[in-house]
Amino acid sequence: MIATVSLNPSIDVRYSLPVFQIGQIHRAASIDKTAGGKGLNVSRVLSQLGMKVSCTGFLGGKNGEWIADRLQDSMLENRFIPIKGETRSCLAILTEDGQTEILEQGPYISEDERKLFLEIYDSILEEADYIVASGSLPTGLEQSFYQLLADRAKQKGRYFLLDTSGIGLAQGIQGKPFLIKPNKEEFCKLIGKSHIELDEMMEYAQEICKNGVEYLLLSMGKEGALLVSKSRILKADIPVIKAMNPVGSGDSMLAGFTFAHSKEYSLEEVLKWACACGMSNAASEKTGSINPLEVQQFINLIKVVEITNL
Ligand code: ATP
Repeated sequence: MIATVSLNPSIDVRYSLPVFQIGQIHRAASIDKTAGGKGLNVSRVLSQLGMKVSCTGFLGGKNGEWIADRLQDSMLENRFIPIKGETRSCLAILTEDGQTEILEQGPYISEDERKLFLEIYDSILEEADYIVASGSLPTGLEQSFYQLLADRAKQKGRYFLLDTSGIGLAQGIQGKPFLIKPNKEEFCKLIGKSHIELDEMMEYAQEICKNGVEYLLLSMGKEGALLVSKSRILKADIPVIKAMNPVGSGDSMLAGFTFAHSKEYSLEEVLKWACACGMSNAASEKTGSINPLEVQQFINLIKVVEITNL
């Protein structure tokens, strides 16, 4: 079984508009509302790939109830902790020129809610082989919370995969997760650089792996991805596709990695699955959604090369 951790889920509302102008009234012809936050995107894609998924984290208020209903619709097991605060909503405004996002901070997590979560988390660790933790930390939890989760998962011999950014990621890697999945921007922030070339990125990534992270999956949008361990670097070159909505591609990629790794595919195949799931999400209008048949087609078009001399 695979468990996903969404500490700060949200209802993601997306308006598609021809143009967006500050100070003007806009009428949205197309509205999309999904149970979101990165962890729930991962969960949906894993389920589309046929995996049994158990979801945990914090849910509260009417927004929390709405998300719980959507979990049921998607046949995802609900192991969320009910909380006093209201689960957040996040807004994305999509135009031809790009995307504008307004992200709520989310509810405060009390000490009692934190304690209850850790009890459920420990019971999930008895059953799940993979723990996929994604997204930002809500207020009330310490910045090293992901490190704590990684430590506990490792003690139980579970694979702990982490997709977060900023201080949560910097502290989380102290728990030596099995995998981290930064995009280019998150990676640059992690190593404290504003911009670096690909070769340098590989060197830094390998340094991180030498310090205990087993795999670093560096996603680079339409430029593909790198999969780095302390002894190997694989680079995936992906074909050009018509991207409809790339939001959630990183989450879909993480789901693809977890699925393929759990099937014990070769590392090259695992990277292809990861990229193909990211691509299929990008090709779809929906956020955190793939088409398994399309994924198979994309896999045949992705080239993976081993980088041997840095
Ligand atoms: P998010 O945070 O929205 O989940 P991300 O920034 O973490 O996304 P990306 O690097 O944008 O993740 O994308 C992950 C993977 O999805 C890429 O490595 C690639 O395989 C695929 N992908 C994303 N965007 C595109 C695109 N425009 N065309 C083709 N493939 C894409």
